[in-house]
Amino acid sequence: MLLRPMKTSTKIKVYILFVWCCLCWLTAGAQVANPFGRALVPDMIADASIELVGDTFYCYATTDGYGRGLDTSGPPVVWKSKDFVHWSFEGVCFPSADGEKYWAPSKAVERNGRWYIYPTVNGIMHVGVADSPEGPFRLARGKDEFTKPFAREATLRQGEDRGGIDAEVFVDDDGQAYVFWGGRHVAKLADDMMTMTEERTLETRRKEYSEGPIFFKRKGIYYYLYTIGGDERYEYYYMMSRTSPMGPYETPAHDLVSTTNVETGVFGPGHGCVFNVDDDYFFAFLEFGRRSTNRQTYVNRLHFNEDGTIQQVKVTLDGVGALRKVKSAKELKPVDMKASSTMEPKKIRHNQDERCQRTEQFVAAFAADGENGSRWMATETDTLCWLVADLGKKMKIGRSELCFVRPTEGHAYVLEGSTDGQHWEPCGGHSDVQRKSPHVDEVKKAYRYVRVRITKGIRGVWEWRLLASGKSNR
Ligand code: CA
Repeated sequence: MLLRPMKTSTKIKVYILFVWCCLCWLTAGAQVANPFGRALVPDMIADASIELVGDTFYCYATTDGYGRGLDTSGPPVVWKSKDFVHWSFEGVCFPSADGEKYWAPSKAVERNGRWYIYPTVNGIMHVGVADSPEGPFRLARGKDEFTKPFAREATLRQGEDRGGIDAEVFVDDDGQAYVFWGGRHVAKLADDMMTMTEERTLETRRKEYSEGPIFFKRKGIYYYLYTIGGDERYEYYYMMSRTSPMGPYETPAHDLVSTTNVETGVFGPGHGCVFNVDDDYFFAFLEFGRRSTNRQTYVNRLHFNEDGTIQQVKVTLDGVGALRKVKSAKELKPVDMKASSTMEPKKIRHNQDERCQRTEQFVAAFAADGENGSRWMATETDTLCWLVADLGKKMKIGRSELCFVRPTEGHAYVLEGSTDGQHWEPCGGHSDVQRKSPHVDEVKKAYRYVRVRITKGIRGVWEWRLLASGKSNR
């Protein structure tokens, strides 16, 4: 059959349709929705305790994402940030606990020029000490090594019952320290920050299983927050005292602080912390969304009523942005991201609440969207994987900051630059496995394309930042 030649106007329409289809195809990656928003750090962490010491925010937490449920955890690390947006860690912070099940360390508190921390290691609360809030920590009592089930000297509780998890340490204005832990327990801590006295159990309105206590003081009022439930039903409730951390407490009529919000996509907001920067208060929580111990941590603002009661947090995955101004070089935004392969979308089923389902995608564009909840992942068989950032034109690149997936396990990689996308030259990377985030390279050359080839470690990138000069706000 012979085709009639097309009229000119039809040709133009076909051409426009062709261009439109091409544009749709090119931008498809960028249009995929990210259901995990602006997580605090580019890693899976839970049970976060956050504090501002001097000009640095510190985040102590459980490292998640090792894929064996409650049987395991990642290694102990301390995340640091100057502006509360760009976070980093380097190596482990508690060397003797590396390889142990290290959970919920509370925050580091200073006493007598030393810093104390209270992680739950192998299911028992321990006391660690260091000369700095970033460690390295060692066991404060006894030999600095972990034996199972536990070394008698090293545990926080020294009585017959050594059990308990999720320590939360609070130091009052008069210097008296307190420790709260799961099951509504509280005790005073002696000046050595290791010896517990006056242990007691708090009475709360809600009676279900409780863990992850949060404790803080604002305008003379003490606040005790406790969780009930778990998975998508993880919730925080609270009570307050105008007398003492030991009570008596009053429970306001509305005592719910946080619960699942299907509309904003927050499922199971659980164990986190409250911290403040001057008069601004913040609520950090873990999110159950990937099920089991594959959680990320988010921060929202915490607001109070005139009478001191807490306003229920409308939890979101949006983050709170920068909390301190720190100068940084200009970010170079890629116009396109390409990868050697992309992992298939993963449908995450609910646990108990069927409204709590979503699909996680792993497209290349997610490695440069400025959001720590989204990531590019190569397929499992793609052992020679690569990711390319296209800047659209040749530009002077000062610095590259790569945040790999599961950074606590370590990565090695090759960084290369190119002006035409065909010929590449090395401009960074390292062949030894290093446990840190981000991996930084001072590139100091002009390229249009930059490519990373991951040679060791999980083949995925949460975030990749290219800066015009070497000056960074980390
Ligand atoms: Ca991302």
